Amino acid sequence: MTECKSVKKGKVWLVGAGPSDAGLFTLKGKSVLEQADVVVFDQLVGQGILAMIPRQAKKINVGKISGNHPVPQGEINRILLEEAQAGNRVVRLKGGDPFLFGRGGEELELLCEHGVSFEIIPGITSAISVPAYHGIPVTHRDFCSSVHIITGHTRNAAQADIDYPSLVELKGTLIFLMGVASMPSICKGLMDAGMDPSMPAAVLERGTTARQRRVISDITHLVDEAEKAQVQTPAIIVVGKVCSLAEDFHWAEDRPLGTKKIMVTRPKERSSALTARLQELGAEVLEVPTIETDVILDNTALSEALKNIKNYHWIAFTSPFGVKIFFERLRELRVDIRSLTGLKFAAIGSATQKAIEEIGILVDLVPEIYEGRALGEALSHRVLADEQAAGVKQQILVPRAKIGTDEVVRPLKEAKLNYLDLPVYDTVEAPDHEFRWYDETVDYVAFTSASTVRGFVKLAEGADFSKVQAACIGEQTAQEARKYGMKTYVAPQASIDSLVECILNIQE
Ligand code: SAH
Repeated sequence: MTECKSVKKGKVWLVGAGPSDAGLFTLKGKSVLEQADVVVFDQLVGQGILAMIPRQAKKINVGKISGNHPVPQGEINRILLEEAQAGNRVVRLKGGDPFLFGRGGEELELLCEHGVSFEIIPGITSAISVPAYHGIPVTHRDFCSSVHIITGHTRNAAQADIDYPSLVELKGTLIFLMGVASMPSICKGLMDAGMDPSMPAAVLERGTTARQRRVISDITHLVDEAEKAQVQTPAIIVVGKVCSLAEDFHWAEDRPLGTKKIMVTRPKERSSALTARLQELGAEVLEVPTIETDVILDNTALSEALKNIKNYHWIAFTSPFGVKIFFERLRELRVDIRSLTGLKFAAIGSATQKAIEEIGILVDLVPEIYEGRALGEALSHRVLADEQAAGVKQQILVPRAKIGTDEVVRPLKEAKLNYLDLPVYDTVEAPDHEFRWYDETVDYVAFTSASTVRGFVKLAEGADFSKVQAACIGEQTAQEARKYGMKTYVAPQASIDSLVECILNIQE
């Protein structure tokens, strides 16, 4: 009998990451990235996409190494081959589309030679999407009938081997990638070849990010205007009548948060609603969780409490995660939900309330202010009244984070009520140091708990925290942020909607 050994077979996915905006990354690219063992990426891949790389994946930055020199192409090809041959799922992540001036073809040659399997996942190219984010359609029936994408980068910078007369003849929109350094020769080349000196032209910098900028001019003045504006890379140059449409069609920066880059620090499983709301309003969102929540395993105290759940009168939840763990454990122990009959439910705020009500249990108490202390006080009030009415001592269960603040239970303690403070999950600070996430391009950092603030401080170690504009979900969170000198903005209600409202109202 032959033994069947399962050999883990490596493979390479050549993936286009799009121009930068994480929302422009393809669904297929994202799903492959989420399963990667190794990710080899370039300088132009947007931060929002880098933030999607799984924590445990090996990350190889070939865009820049310590001396600021990119890794030579031959070396990149070799890395891809070796990682795949070692049995890994390798994602080669490239800015824009991998086959448009992305050397994607070169990277496949060695893989092909060695019989390594690969897939190609195209990306949205900057050549078309960056103009779109400035309101420039690359074609328009009134102005042109073709579009041409040209590299402005040549091995011999002084003498670009661009055939200007042919380009002028085509009368289409011209898009130059990697052309910032050779802009003077491009404009001159076009004019010398007979292009109308008043032909509209644009330089579009850092397109699809919150920092995107454009200079709209004509080929005669573009170089001077770009110099005045101190245009930096990455930028594309567009030449053609369509450039004049930006004046009417610009849109990206006009969205309520269109020029804001916001860091969201809460754990991934809980950040999606906040991220989606901010993105809807046009913000560039960087999801970098600074804490993680881990279920406490072998939690005998929880099992005991659940088996004896009939002894309790009230249960108070302080997070949707606590609700989830509670009901999951209940099912695992084969305790029927009907044994909760008569038990009253309290929730710290609307999200927790929603999590309970989705199970089909209507919540009996939510404090007016969504905060620990308010919950503790409101609950004490109700329980004392219940005790009076029933004439028996009431038992309260508080399943929550292991290192939560005492704010919730303090009022219960002061009122001498019977409660069990039951840890069901652990919050650990988990700053991801692989990338430099925080820098001066971040406009606001959103904090939803004091622990996210502490995690952030570790993540951004060495940063000038007095420059951080912290949008905080409640006063307690803001107090923590102030300890480090951050400028704080506090949401009036401890809810996502209120936090978003608070961010929209920040007046700088
Ligand atoms: N494969 C990429 C292009 C790689 S060449 C694509 O399909 O987009 C690199 C050039 O792309 C840069 O020099 C710049 O001209 C352009 N570029 C890439 N991302 C850009 C962005 N976000 N804003 C402006 N230009 C960008």
